[in-house]
Amino acid sequence: MGKQKSSITIDPAKCAPCTGQICIGVCPQGALEEGRNRKPQVIEVVQCTKCGVCVNLCPAKAITINVSNPKK
Ligand code: SF4
Ligand code: SF4
Repeated sequence: MGKQKSSITIDPAKCAPCTGQICIGVCPQGALEEGRNRKPQVIEVVQCTKCGVCVNLCPAKAITINVSNPKK
């Protein structure tokens, strides 16, 4: 909402963050980086291929893939 368009959304309210910050480690594109309070943030939006790896592995289910809506 008014923010930078991203392929994925990380909900900081759900992110613990988990030990080892799984999402950052598993992203094959290197699109994620540690942000404030050790929580991940998307740093390379264009790099994200929406592969879904981080979404599936996040124990907190804090990450969702944004489905682009071509109608809008
Ligand atoms: S969906 Fe895939 S490419 Fe995108 S941030 Fe997650 S692991 Fe990285
Ligand atoms: S995998 Fe989930 S809980 Fe762990 S750091 Fe990433 S968003 Fe947070």
